[in-house]
Amino acid sequence: MTKIFIDPGHGGPDPGAVGNSVTEEFVNLNVSLELARLLRDAGYDVMIYRTTSDENVLADKNADLRNRAAMANRFGADYFISIHTNSSDRPAAQGVEAYVYRLGTASERLAQSIVDSVSENLGSVNRGVMQANFAVLRRSEMPAVLVELGYLTNATEALNLNSPAWQRAVATAIFEGIVNYTGVPTP
Ligand SMILES: [Zn+2]
Repeated sequence: MTKIFIDPGHGGPDPGAVGNSVTEEFVNLNVSLELARLLRDAGYDVMIYRTTSDENVLADKNADLRNRAAMANRFGADYFISIHTNSSDRPAAQGVEAYVYRLGTASERLAQSIVDSVSENLGSVNRGVMQANFAVLRRSEMPAVLVELGYLTNATEALNLNSPAWQRAVATAIFEGIVNYTGVPTP
């Protein structure tokens, strides 16, 4: 059974980005919960780091990031998906992008599949896949992707990101991006 670890970014003492009165940790959580449901219904074995604002979240930020990767490693996840929303000093900045620890890897191909699906299904600007030395990506022992769904500092995207209907739609798009990469899971 294909195992997927979902990491809803931030939570607990760390709300993440805030823009246009929308707070990142709640967007990440809502999208992650819907994604977990879709994946389970399709036959994936899913573990999710937090199902509330603060479940499992450690007070120390660096310890918490290590804990996220460690939990995925113990689970024996085949794929690690971290869900985030972005912010920028430029209100015009918009679109979906993803980060991986190394380009030219399975992580990059999975990330590209997710970003392309979100862009095609939601009409978001496709900002592509980039390299980043993020702890959750570096410490995860399986292909790992951190996706930034859009910019809370962009008024239009903040409205979308705060909408339950849009959250469900983007979760479906991420799900399709995962399935397009992994193939339909076999029990
Ligand atoms: Zn974030």
